[in-house]
Amino acid sequence: MDVDSLYQEIILDHYKHPHGAGLREPFEAEVHHVNPTCGDEITLRVHLDGEMVSDVSYAAEGCSISRASTSVLNDLIVGKSVSEGMAVLDEFNQLMHGKGKIDPNEDVLEDGIAFAGVAQFPGRIKCALLGWMAWKDAVSQALVTTASSDTASSDTALSDTSSSNEGTS
Ligand code: ZN
Repeated sequence: MDVDSLYQEIILDHYKHPHGAGLREPFEAEVHHVNPTCGDEITLRVHLDGEMVSDVSYAAEGCSISRASTSVLNDLIVGKSVSEGMAVLDEFNQLMHGKGKIDPNEDVLEDGIAFAGVAQFPGRIKCALLGWMAWKDAVSQALVTTASSDTASSDTALSDTSSSNEGTS
């Protein structure tokens, strides 16, 4: 079996048996992304536990590449910290924009290396990146949500100290 058919096998396997598919609760952010050139659509939710990505759940429609790529994302991102996840995203992004000339880093990308061949087809790169861009968007929204609830609790703490001069007449 040559490398190309091995890669196709991996993509097909994730397409047929997507890892972590479905929309779950709880979640801090939900996004909907569309790839109009191919007709792929994804709704994706992120659940953070502090700095850790504790779940990425999704409902995907469209071609095998976009759906398989999101399944691989679930494998690679869940259980990592947000910054580790962003590093994996960077690596995958570079592979996709490498025109098929970059040697994929299997330690970081695991099954994601199967998309190395996709990088040679500009029309399919957006398919492979759809879920990853959705994840990046959802995480940045989730971080804002988490940060603003922190601010709210420190505001409450401040207002407690302002009433100490009252009632001394
Ligand atoms: Zn597609």
